[in-house]
Amino acid sequence: MRGIREEFSKALEELKAEFGELWSEEIEGELVELVKRYKVPISEASSVLRRKHLKEKKLRISELSLGFHEEPIRVRVLNVKRGGNKKRVSGIFGDESGLIPFISHIEYQLEEGKCFELRNFLVRRWKGIPTIELVKDSSLQLSSPVEIRNPLLKISELLKRNVNFRVRLIGCILSLKMPSGIVRRCSLCGRILRNGRCKEHENSKSYLDMRLKFILDDGSSSILAIASRKISEEILGMSLEECISEGWEKRREKAEIELKKRLLGKFISIEASLIRASEEILKIERVEVPSDIPSILIERFFEVYTHADNS
Ligand SMILES: [Zn+2]
Repeated sequence: MRGIREEFSKALEELKAEFGELWSEEIEGELVELVKRYKVPISEASSVLRRKHLKEKKLRISELSLGFHEEPIRVRVLNVKRGGNKKRVSGIFGDESGLIPFISHIEYQLEEGKCFELRNFLVRRWKGIPTIELVKDSSLQLSSPVEIRNPLLKISELLKRNVNFRVRLIGCILSLKMPSGIVRRCSLCGRILRNGRCKEHENSKSYLDMRLKFILDDGSSSILAIASRKISEEILGMSLEECISEGWEKRREKAEIELKKRLLGKFISIEASLIRASEEILKIERVEVPSDIPSILIERFFEVYTHADNS
């Protein structure tokens, strides 16, 4: 008897998690009735309930996982790019939970601002980022308006989701990974030269660039982040040329000390995508200078605010 009871409560927990907001006491009643009154095996009863009720279930971008999805999702087209002679359409979808890039090799009538209900689509990594791919069997129907929101996330929340495209975060630069600041890259592949050489192209030409690689921490968790030249210049408040004229290219140690002095402990507000190479890396796509960050958010980081709204 105990075995059956355990099996039942396990199935119940799984169904509740799967149904999410759609779960109700009525559905739980149906499960009990099927299993106890009609002696339907638990696994079969679960399938019956799924077939009956989950058709209604609507996904949200933040809940998407990799793989094929039959269930509908409602999205708004944020932007569309149609690529040259290749029949490729790409862009960004959004809903009230976040944003996700999409790609399609089939011409659907996607236009900026239009809202659709999608079914039968794939989610797979494209350049390390989970992306919706519309395939031959995908269906698109115009839908009622979908609101787009891109809520501010905590780093700990980020690590629980699969879709983390252009998420908004606020954090503090905890430590710097070298090489950061001025770097020299291979002209053929863009790799950073080590000891003056590219590991793939021995005597290739090179060029100076700037990048930052650091640990970002928001109190909930921390993550490795990288910034390209433009973003690095904004965070640092100095251009590549200014860094060169300060002599940072020649005097590496001095440069490292200066970088740490300017960056460690600095708060930044960013829009970034979590990409997965060999490890998870946050690629910063937009940054706000610290003076723009409301002090309440800095206080929240240290959790020194009092719960004034408890009353
Ligand atoms: Zn190279």
